[in-house]
Order: sequence, then structure tokens, then C-alpha cells
Amino acid sequence: MKFDLMPPADQLVIMMERIYGYGMTTTSGGNLSILDDNGDIWITPGSVDKGSLTRDDMVCIKKNGDIIGKHKPSSEFPFHKKLYEARSDIKAVLHAHPPALVAFSVVRKIPDTKIIANVNRVCGPIGLAKYGLPGSTDLGDKIADEFKKDENIHTVLLENHGVVIGHKDLFTAFKAFETIEYCARLNINSNIIGEAKALSKEQIKLEAEKLKPQLDEFVPKSHSTYEKEERAKMATLIRRGYKQRLFTSTQGTFSQRIDNDSFIITPHNIDRMYLDPADIVTIKSGMKEAGKEPSRSVLLHKLIYDTHPEINSLIIAHPHNVMAFALTNAPFDSRTIPESYIMLRDVPKVPFGSTFSDSEKLANTISMVNPVVLVENDCVLVAGNSLINAFDRLEVTEYTAKSIISSAHVGEIVKISKKQVEEIDLAFNLEK
Ligand SMILES: [Zn+2]
Repeated sequence: MKFDLMPPADQLVIMMERIYGYGMTTTSGGNLSILDDNGDIWITPGSVDKGSLTRDDMVCIKKNGDIIGKHKPSSEFPFHKKLYEARSDIKAVLHAHPPALVAFSVVRKIPDTKIIANVNRVCGPIGLAKYGLPGSTDLGDKIADEFKKDENIHTVLLENHGVVIGHKDLFTAFKAFETIEYCARLNINSNIIGEAKALSKEQIKLEAEKLKPQLDEFVPKSHSTYEKEERAKMATLIRRGYKQRLFTSTQGTFSQRIDNDSFIITPHNIDRMYLDPADIVTIKSGMKEAGKEPSRSVLLHKLIYDTHPEINSLIIAHPHNVMAFALTNAPFDSRTIPESYIMLRDVPKVPFGSTFSDSEKLANTISMVNPVVLVENDCVLVAGNSLINAFDRLEVTEYTAKSIISSAHVGEIVKISKKQVEEIDLAFNLEK
């Protein structure tokens, strides 16, 4: 989907649906705008149900001040306008009150983005604007002042209010919004079970430098029916995983073995919400399908398939409950309910950097006996004998993590005992 080629009114509808559908704004809260090439500002209307907006509900404020549309513009239009005046690079503004970020806004703190390298890069530096009356020029000035401090600032948290993102286009603003909200949730979940460890500047830089695989290209003569079917299944599961919030729009890597010498893998940096089977990349004899960019962990996937003939599918994901265990020293023990133990077994945790600097060790750690591995400050890696098997295992991992985190509020966990585990091993014929 070429989002940026859509007319502004359609972009606003799609993005508002996406934000509302995710529970990142309420019916009355949240507003978006786009500044077009004419200098006209397109904005969502005020006091209209955000769950059922159409393109005709959008309001256009012409450069000369004329207002076109059947509704009034959002009451927060004044700060949208201020932002466009303050920074010429900003062409889209997104404002909402998502719960995790509001938690930070009411304690007047900025979430720590250095916990994950990719999150830190997407979010950049973050400002914190002083409290101001909603809809007032004063609030607009306070927000614009934060944006004026540094042209790398695209996200500003508002004290006792919410967040404002200003970016070159609406999709980039959305990515930053989704990522900072995700980051806030990670911080909150981590703090329930321990303390999130931050990466150093050097570690963040190293990750960016290391993760640029250089592969030769090949032009596929044809794609087998099996490969086409696997591509279709993969695209469906990725879209589902994205809707379940198992990763953000640009995270999440899926791969599936096709034969001994080839596998298919997700593309780098393509929106997971609308991923199409044609976007998926074939890797054959270590070469990539011409004209496409595979996920950056492609070499790790290849190494795992070469090392383990029994593994057919791999998923790298970043769900916000599992990740709390990858960010803190809290141990992840699957001996909570039999289903978790049977699906996940022992879940090893390996250091940050394992996906790119020590991939051999990681490839030797994962197996069908230990099919889930946590990588500190990075991801969870899940193996399966099929993609649906790996996906199911990822969901079980996330649900188990969520239960453990939630249990902190109700009492102390009683783990399944050693004797009970032995009984499960025997009854379910689990390999050691
Ligand atoms: Zn607001």
C-alpha cells in the first residue's frame, strides 16, 4: 500500500481507524493533521465518534483561514498550526492520550528508549512540554518551544495530557507514536518484575552497524506451489501477529524453510499491518531474491536452518510482556501451567549482541528441545516445526509472561514441582 500517495483525507481516516482499533485513543480523544503542498491543513474533526469517521468528516483549513467541511476542526487545532509554523520539516502531526504514555505524562517522566536499540532510533530524543489548558494558544506555544529546541525532536510528551508527534509524513509519525507507546509499556511491565537495563550509546551504535547483511542477488526462475502457499500463510500470520501486538509495524521477522537450500523471510522495513505475500523474500544458497531487502537477521536464520534440519520455522518478535523478561534480570520460568512447560520447556536467556555478534552460540542454544530463547534488550526467538507451530509457541510465551507479571499483583507463584514436571515429561514423551 502506497500510503503517502493517498489523499490527505483518506490517510487521516485510515490512521485514525488504526490508532482507535489498537486502543491507543478513545472515541473523543486524539487528533491527526496533515499539511499539504498548498499550505492547507487537513485535520480530524472535533466531537465526532473516532470509531466511525469517513473522509467526508475531515476538515480542511485553507492557507487563508477558510474552513471547509461539515464539522468544526479538532479543538486542538491551535497547537497543530503552531507546530507547522515552528518547524518547516513537519508535515504531519499526531496527538493522542494512549494509556501507557499517559502514565508517564502524569508522573512527568519520559520513558527510557535506550532499552532497545531499534526503539531508540525510531523515537529519537523526546521532549516534555509543561502543562497547558487544552485548546489554548499557551499550550501551543509550550509544545512548539519543545520542538524548536532540537530538530531531531519529533516526539513531545505533554504534562498531565498525552503525546504529540510531528514528522515528515503521517506514517512516519504513526511509527514513532506506536514505538514510543510500546516503549512505555515495556518500561511499565519491566518495573513490575525488576528493573529494565538500558543499553549504552556504543551498544546501540554497534547494533546498527552490525546488522546490515550484504547478500548477492539471484533472479528466481519460478516459485513452486509449496513456496506460494507458505508465502500466503506467512503473510496472514504476520498480519495477525501485528494485530495481536506481538511486534510493532516494522519489527517482527518470520522465516520458513522451503527446502535444504532455501527459505523465505519477511522483508526489512515494510509495514506488517498490510504485508503482502509478494513482499516476502526468497533466500537460496545464501543469495537474496533480486530487488528485495530481507529482514536484517537473515544470516542468523540461515545459520539456524543449516545447524538444525529439524527446525522448519523461526520467528523473532518483541511482545511487551515477554520483553520485560529480556530487559530485566527476572527469570522466565515456564513451569506455571502444564501447557506452558510442554510448549516452551526451559527458556534460556542470552546476552545482548547474540543475534549479530555471537550468532553461532545462539544457533547452538536454540533447538526443538529449547525452542524459545530470550535475547537481552533485543527480542524473543522462537523455533517450530511449522510456522503455525512457532506462532502458537510465541503466543504461549507471551501469555505465560503476561500471567507471571500479573501474578505479582495477586500473590506468590507456586511452580509446578520437579516431580510433577517429571510426570509431564513422561506422559507427553518430552525429549530431554
Ligand atoms: Zn489531547
